[in-house]
Order: sequence, then C-alpha cells, then structure tokens
Amino acid sequence: LSDHSDNDDNVTSNRVQVRGARVHNLKNVDVDLPRNALVVFTGISGSGKSSLAFGTLFAESQRRYLDSVSPYARRLIDQVDEPDVDAIEGLPPAVALQQQRGTPSVRSSVGSVTTISNGLRMLYSRAGEYPEGQEMLYADAFSPNTPDGACPTCSGIGRVFEVTEALLVPDNTKTIRERAIAAWPPAWQGQNLSRILTTLGYDIDKPWHTLSKKTRDWILFTDETPTVPVYPEYNIEQTRAAIEDGEKPNYMGTFTSAKRFILHSFATTQSSRTKKRVSQFMQISECPECHGKKLKRESLSVKFAGLDIGELSQLTLTELALKLEKTAHTKLDNETPNREKAIVAQRITSDILSRVEALTKLGLGYLSLERTTPTLSPGELQRLRLATQIRSQLFGVVYVLDEPSAGLHPADTQALLAALDELIAAGNSVFVVEHDVSVIRHADWVVDVGPKAGTHGGQIVYSGPVEGLRNVAQSHTGQYLFADTANGQPRSNTRQPAAWLKLADIKRNNITGLDAEFPLGVMTSVTGVSGSGKSSLVSQALVELINEALGQKITEDAPIDESDLLEQELDSVTSGEIIAGMEYVRRLININQKAIGRTPRSNLATYTGLFDDVRKLFAATKQAKAHGFDAGRFSFNTAKGRCPNCEGLGFVSVELLFLPSVYAPCQVCHGKRYDDETLAITYRDKNIAEVLNLTVEAAHEFFSDEAPILRALEALLQVGLGYLRLGQPATELSGGEAQRIKLATELQRTQRGDTLYILDEPTTGLHPADVSMLMAQLNGLVDAGNTVIMVEHDMQVASNSDWVMDMGPGAGDAGGSIVAQGTPEDVAQSKTSRTAPFLLV
Ligand code: ADP
Ligand code: ADP
Ligand code: ZN
Ligand code: ZN
Repeated sequence: LSDHSDNDDNVTSNRVQVRGARVHNLKNVDVDLPRNALVVFTGISGSGKSSLAFGTLFAESQRRYLDSVSPYARRLIDQVDEPDVDAIEGLPPAVALQQQRGTPSVRSSVGSVTTISNGLRMLYSRAGEYPEGQEMLYADAFSPNTPDGACPTCSGIGRVFEVTEALLVPDNTKTIRERAIAAWPPAWQGQNLSRILTTLGYDIDKPWHTLSKKTRDWILFTDETPTVPVYPEYNIEQTRAAIEDGEKPNYMGTFTSAKRFILHSFATTQSSRTKKRVSQFMQISECPECHGKKLKRESLSVKFAGLDIGELSQLTLTELALKLEKTAHTKLDNETPNREKAIVAQRITSDILSRVEALTKLGLGYLSLERTTPTLSPGELQRLRLATQIRSQLFGVVYVLDEPSAGLHPADTQALLAALDELIAAGNSVFVVEHDVSVIRHADWVVDVGPKAGTHGGQIVYSGPVEGLRNVAQSHTGQYLFADTANGQPRSNTRQPAAWLKLADIKRNNITGLDAEFPLGVMTSVTGVSGSGKSSLVSQALVELINEALGQKITEDAPIDESDLLEQELDSVTSGEIIAGMEYVRRLININQKAIGRTPRSNLATYTGLFDDVRKLFAATKQAKAHGFDAGRFSFNTAKGRCPNCEGLGFVSVELLFLPSVYAPCQVCHGKRYDDETLAITYRDKNIAEVLNLTVEAAHEFFSDEAPILRALEALLQVGLGYLRLGQPATELSGGEAQRIKLATELQRTQRGDTLYILDEPTTGLHPADVSMLMAQLNGLVDAGNTVIMVEHDMQVASNSDWVMDMGPGAGDAGGSIVAQGTPEDVAQSKTSRTAPFLLV
C-alpha cells in the first residue's frame, strides 16, 4: 500500500477516491465519494457496506493516524487490520460512531459518556451554594470515583452488600448440627465450623431460634477469627475436660463467621458456581450513609438550584435543562450581588445547557445523567456519542456511523437528520451505513453495495445522487425506495386473535398502573417514540410476569459478578398481574439483542449446536481414528487440540500505552486456534479451522448431505445470515445478528404451538429486502399456532402486523400509556398517535 498523504490531494476535486478495495468480500472496487456531504451506504445484509465504510475507509484513516503517533503501534496494527486496498486519496481523519458489538466492557453513565458530569462538578465546585463556614471543594470532590469524593461507607458505589440473619438461616427451627446456617460451606468445612463452635462452648444441638440474640449475632457476623483446638468426637463438656487435661487435639481450627465467609468467597472465588451459591445469601441495599448518591457528606451539602449533585443527576435531561436555563439566561449587571460567582455560574451553565440540548434534540431528553450505559440500547448509546461529537466542534473530519436510526421512531428521525446536517454544516463529512428509507432519501450521495450478500455481493451497484437509483434495475434498494407502497407487497388478511392475554396494574419504569391486553395467536407490533415505555412493557414487565406464571426462572448463562449485582436496579421491579389468558401460553421464548456470549469462545456454530455435529464428523474420519482423536479434540475450548499459545482464541491481546488494547493474531497458530496435529486432520479436504471459516452459505453446500447440520444452516439462511462465518466470535456480532441467530436456533426446533415469542426490534441491521424474509419466518410461527409480540419501529413491519399497540404519547414521564391499539388500519385513524401518520395502510 503506497502512502497518499492529504497534502498532495487535489483540493478542488473535494472527493474521497478509493481504488482497488478488496476488504472481506469487496471485489477490487473503485468508488469516489463527495466530502462535506451526507453519504449513505446501502445494500442488503452482508453485501459489504460495513466492509467499505468501516473495514476500508475508517480502518485506513485509523492506520494513518496511528502511523503518525506511534511507529510501535503501527507495527502491531499492521498485523491486525491494514485494509486491503490499493489507494485512498482525499481521506480526512475519521471518527467512528459504531454501535457497540457484544457486551460493553466499560461501565459508564450518560453523564460520563457525554462529559456533562465534568461540567456539573465544576459548577458545584465553583458556583455551588455552600453551607455557612464550609470551605470550597475542588471539582474532584464531586466525583464518586476519586478518594476525595467517594462516600467512605460504600466507597462511592452507592450500594452495600448485606447479609441478614433471615438470609443466612432460612429455617430457624433447625439446629447448627442440622445445618441451620445454610450459608455455611458444604461438606467437611461446614462440619469443621460446628466443631469449632463446640470448642467455643456453643450448643450445636439446640434449635437456632432458642439461642440468645448475642450468640446468634456472634456466630453469624463476628469479625473475630479465633483459632482453637478441635476434638471431633467430643461434646462441649468432653472438650472442656480435654483442654483442661492438656489432651492433644486432632487439629487446630479457625472460625469464620457466615458473613465473613460469604463476603470473602464472593470477592475472591473464580468459580461462577460458587459465586451463584453465595450470592443467594447476600442482599444489596442502598448505602445508608449517602442514600445511593455515592458522595461524601461534605460534597452533598453543596447545592445548586436547591439540589445536591446527586439529585441533579437523577433528573431527566429535560428537567435538568429547565434548572440550568434560569441561571444561564439571567441578566447580569453591575448591581448583581456576588457578580464574579454569577458570571462563572452563567458561563458553566450555558456550556452544560448546550450539551444537554444537543441530547434532547436527538430525542434523549428522557434519560438522566446517572443512567448507566449497560441499561441503554446500542442505538441510544450511539446517539449519545453523536450528540457529544456535535458539541466537540471538530471540523474537517469524516464521521462514520452504523445505522444511527436504530431504535428511533420515524417521528424522531428528522431530529437525527438535523444533527447530521449540523455536522456537515460545520465542515465535516458524514458517512453512514443505513437501511432506513427516510435517511437514504435525505442523502446527498448513495453508494449501493451488492447486488447480494457475501461472495454474491461486494460490488458497487450504484454511486451517485439518490434520484439516480431509480433507474438501476439491479438494486434492491432502488426497488424499495421508489416502490409505490413502501413494502411492495400487500398485507395478507388480518388473522383473528384466538384469545387475549390480560395484564392489570402494571408498574415498571415510566409505566404506572397500566392495564394491557395482548391478542394471542397473531402478530403484534408495539410502537411508540423512543423512551415511551415499549421495552418496559414488553421486554421487561410482560416477560417477567409470564416467566413467573410459567414458573420459569430467567436464567442468564453469563457468569454474574459483583458489579453486575451492584448495578441491578434496586427498585425497578415489575409489579402487576396476569388476570386472563395464561392457559393459552405454554412456553415463552424471549429473543432479545443481548450477545450470544461474552467471550470470543462462543460463536454461531457453538451457539446453534451445529458445531457438535461438525466435530463428530471430524472424529469419524479414518485419519482421526488412526490418531485416536475423539470429538473433544476438535473443540477449541478444551486443552486437547487447541493452540496452547492462545488457548484456542486465535488471537492475543496486546496492551498499548495510551491506546485501547488491540487483539493481534496469535503468532503460533496464526488465528487458526488449533495445534498442528489437529489441523492435519481433514474432512472433505478441509481442516477444522477452514470449516470454521466458511460462511453459512458456503457451509450449506459443503455439508449438503448432513441432515442435522443442514437444518441449522437452513434456519440461519432463512433469517438472512448466510454471510456470517461459522466461527465468527460472538463479540464481533451486532445485537441484530445475535437476535437473528437466536431466532434461527428457535426455528430449527420442532414447533409445538402455544408458544409466545417476544422480540426486540428484530429488523435492526436489516435491509428492507431482508425484512420481508424475516416477516415470512415470523408469519410462519404465527400460522403454526404461536404468538409473536415485538417492539418495532419499522413501519413496514408494523403495517403488516395483525395488531398494533402504540405507546406514548411522549417519552419518559410523558409516556407510559397506550395511545391507540387495533389493526394497523384502526391505529392509522388515531388523531393522537404519533405513529398513525407513518403507518402504510
Ligand atoms: P454489510 O455491512 O453489508 O451487512 P459486511 O461488510 O459486514 O456486510 O460483510 C460483507 C461480507 O464480508 C460478508 O460476506 C461477511 O461475512 C464478510 N465479513 C465481514 N466481516 C468479516 C471479517 N472480519 N472477516 C472475514 N469476512 C468478513
Ligand atoms: P422504549 O422501549 O419505548 O424506548 P423504555 O421502556 O426503554 O422505552 O423506557 C421508558 C422509560 O423508562 C424512559 O424514561 C427510560 O429512561 C426509563 N427506563 C428504561 N429502562 C430503565 C432502567 N433500566 N432504569 C431506569 N429507567 C429506565
Ligand atoms: Zn455511600
Ligand atoms: Zn494460537
């Protein structure tokens, strides 16, 4: 790759010129893109849009940047991600606003992502109202993450772990010998503790509730750890006598209270099983000192607009803006008391206010600063970052975005477009990968990649102004963009509900005492502006209430850790009840956008179970039998056959000073994950690493006579995932892809009927052409006697559902109600529904 610096770029051309791009499936393509414009990359899933926008343009910009800052980093990045392209000219520095893939590794809050929290700390430090006689505090004292600010009781977490007697001793009629203290370790260790208590003079054969409070408290909660002689066979008197006689004990034992044992095990164990076990005995509650505000007392005594910084951070951004406006817009003159302080307050509040307004304009006014990022959807997070960028006032850069319309109601899309226009007006370029028709229509330039996915795509079908797409017969995008009805196909006859599932008095987040009825045996879309309460109603309340009614536990397969528990919402539990219809629901399948695994060890092949069959095929080859290799040998998760250097991951993490750590391919196996002996075994001329590298589509041909594998692959093809590689790590998959893998896994199971499927915006990441395919699958489920309920913004989907439930009218406190419900035709008539004008009926 030759270097083309921007200096010799012909400025008058004002173009980004890509020559010979071959990243992933791109077929040596050339394309010219205007700068200072909104360029939208379109095409069906897997066609190569991201490979061009992120894999080529953004990656090359990043490579040049790293090259300029650190030759050392450059060497590492070379191994990682140098895009395969002959030349790119006129490329400005790029900033990517990509949606988070997999599970976010860093926990932060709305305030920290947007840096608004920094501003607030400054405000409280410099312009806060201090109690009489209190010294001014530094800004750091308003951050729970500094020793200067953290509440000493909870170390700035806002919550404390507690163990209570009721948790530790669930049945107080039992004796200690009968293991009244359920929290004690099992087997010998527990026995050991009761023997020690005997030595200490406690009667282990009395029912727990007959012991004195002082005794019970000491046994459960003491921090003392006495070491005493142990005589396993003796009772209290015999032990006392033995000690007096100086009899040699069997051993010396050290006592640990149940509380110490639980907290210590939880903090130190590596085993998620132990962690789960001990966490049943802990309870998390609000810190009694700071009441969850995380800060020390002095910091909380400083007020602005009558509120401490914790209270201010709990306001929604819309409410916060109102508080700030007063100060930001006060007229100051020579008469103003405390003029200097007032000037500082005005300057800081104006700055914060403009940041907050950038967020509210993007429809995020319902969020609070303290809201943690793991509770946000990927689309909300991306819009947070976008708003932050708008305020950063960079110019001359290209922003590369990934489906910014995800999670946005059509009524909110205009605000998004206005934000993008603002970036362009400030002298930047904006490149977006997008499916939403209204965003595509707004583009200055469209690059349509395709015509199909994977090896059948990777070409530039069209590059030019939107209008030109009209005449490109080959383009799937053009067909949808200019079709008379946006979906191009009439809705089949509305199905009639078989029964109704009735919920009463639901409370969750912004939903306060709602009654809702969902039709069974049909397809329902729940719509509404973002923040109106769709997820609260469907993905949270409905799922939890049904699980409870079915006696299913919500099982999370990912291991829990301390921070997970601490961040669980204390008070955000669902209340409400199901009053009718449960007899028609036998099973609930919640197909959400959570990652299918937290580590690169999970992938499509392992999740769907098809890899088990693949490994059996390898183990059954003559070669494998001759070496005595069983199916386990072909797993990269067990030590037998995997590369010992990277332990089957295929890459190793490289720490860079001042830069996020990067993953570099393993030097030993070069990303193949297995050792040489295992790789020497082939099935139909491919080794196991080569098979993992096949796309679903290629694998479908390769395994054409292996029925069980084919069934899984066909289900994946049916949801439009033919372009994914079997071994693509879970951490690289988008939320939408993870959701479709779950759906495919469900589709390959035998349908029993009476199942309720709940989906969360299943069209995320899907081109309209793929949406039709998804709808066909969902309709199949309904026709087989099941129910589908989904949260959805795509009007093609909502308009083709049997039933629409529209939430709103606004977001946050202004939402939480059902504004309209009925067939799409009925809802389209509603005068109050903000969804009505967009329904395609
Ligand atoms: P789109 O953004 O249009 O959905 P992508 O650019 O993500 O499509 O994918 C285009 C093709 O490149 C697909 O066949 C996909 O499987 C392949 N691909 C994507 N990422 C990788 C990767 N990291 N390594 C190899 N192939 C990839
Ligand atoms: P939608 O799905 O329609 O976008 P949500 O149900 O996610 O809306 O949100 C409805 C309201 O509940 C919003 O005000 C949102 O900020 C709040 N909310 C949602 N999830 C949480 C949470 N985990 N903690 C606190 N508030 C939440
Ligand atoms: Zn505290
Ligand atoms: Zn390796």
